[in-house]
Formats: sequence, structure tokens, C-alpha cells
Amino acid sequence: MVEAEQTWSAAQIGFAQAMMRYETRPIYARISRVVAYAVVGLQWVLLVAAWRSALGVVMHGILVCAAFVLADFVNGMVHLYMDHQRGYRSFVGPFVAAFHLHHDRPNYTEKPIFRVYLDESGSKIWLAVALVLFGIVAVFFGVAPWVLCFVAYFAFWSSWAEVSHFLCHNRKDAWVLWLQKYWLLLPRAHHMQHHRFDNVNYAFLNGMSDPLINGWARRFCRGYVGTTDLDTALYQARQK
Ligand SMILES: [Zn+2]
Ligand SMILES: [Zn+2]
Repeated sequence: MVEAEQTWSAAQIGFAQAMMRYETRPIYARISRVVAYAVVGLQWVLLVAAWRSALGVVMHGILVCAAFVLADFVNGMVHLYMDHQRGYRSFVGPFVAAFHLHHDRPNYTEKPIFRVYLDESGSKIWLAVALVLFGIVAVFFGVAPWVLCFVAYFAFWSSWAEVSHFLCHNRKDAWVLWLQKYWLLLPRAHHMQHHRFDNVNYAFLNGMSDPLINGWARRFCRGYVGTTDLDTALYQARQK
């Protein structure tokens, strides 16, 4: 008996071609590396400048907490936006395609926390652009010390979100579980709903802004299970 030939959609073919470009063209790994060093380098320049500012300890504490909340929300919204993107044939299409594979991934390659912090910052092109623009404004026009501190903490928490997501998938150490229990790291049971269900729990720093993001997603977004997740099928079939 001859098996019926599988027909693939234009999106599935575009996705597989984008992944081929991602895996074979060195430019994509190089861009990730440049973005990783730009994001981490610029955030540490800002952090040093923040600590040398005249702000008091209490104000620093308030800004750290405020940035912790806002970074969870903003990074969650970027995640939501990325989960719905389909421009596989554009120059940045390979980054979009590679991003969509995270829904099927129960664990990540084990590596030291610092490497996760650096390497995963390489996917944050939006943050690299924002930090360069902020740096230009700060140098040429000047910014208030509290703004400088807030942006420094926000940038750090945005990179740390990648670590929080990694720990959520890969580690069950006592200190990780303790921090997850108090929502200072992304709680595992909460985050796994993003992988098991559709259109929920996009936040990945601490997950506390998910009620807000889920409300937005319900109202304005179609979700990923019946859309972008299906685009990965041809690529995944070839991997088997
Ligand atoms: Zn996702
Ligand atoms: Zn995850």
C-alpha cells in the first residue's frame, strides 16, 4: 500500500527553509553573539553608572523592585508578540523560526548560569536597540539619575529572565525551588501551562504579570497551538 503523500503548507515550507538558513549561515550566530555582548556590556556600563549616582539605598531598592515588575511584563509581551510572528522569508525570519521551537522543549542544554545569562541575551535584539538609543540620549542630552538606574535594573532583569526560564526547565535545586515558591524566580507549575496549553502565561522572569498579559492575549491574540506551532511540523518531521 502506498502511503498518502503529505502536503505541506507555504508557512511550513517557509519555516523549514528559515531553519535551514539559521543552521547553515554563520551570520545568524554572529548577530546573536554581537547582540549578547551589546546587551550585557551596555547593561553593565549602566549598572556601574547607576551605582555611582547620588541616589540613596532606599531609592535603589524601590527602582530594583519596580524594574523587576516592569521587566516581567515587557519581556512577557515581547514573548507574546514573537509567538505570533510568521515572517519566515524575511532576513530576520530564521530568528523567528528558531524562537518557535521553544514550545516543544522540555529541557535546555545544561550550562553554567553565567553562560545562560550571556548567550540567551543574544536573542534580545529589541533590548540592544533600546539600550543603544537610550545611551545616545543619555550621552547627548543627559537623563535624571533615577531614570538611569531604572533602565539599568530593567535591562539586567530582562537578561536575568532568560536565566529564570532556564532554571524553571532545568533545575530543581533547593534554592531555586525556594525562590520559585515566593515568585522571585519563575515557578515551574505556573510556567508549564505555557507549554501544555494555548495562549497563556507568557511572562518568564517571575510570572507575576501573567494575569494582565493573559487578559490581553484572550482579547487580541489567536494563540500558538493552532497557528505558529503547526508551522514547525515539516522541520520537526525532518529531524526525526
Ligand atoms: Zn512561547
Ligand atoms: Zn519554557
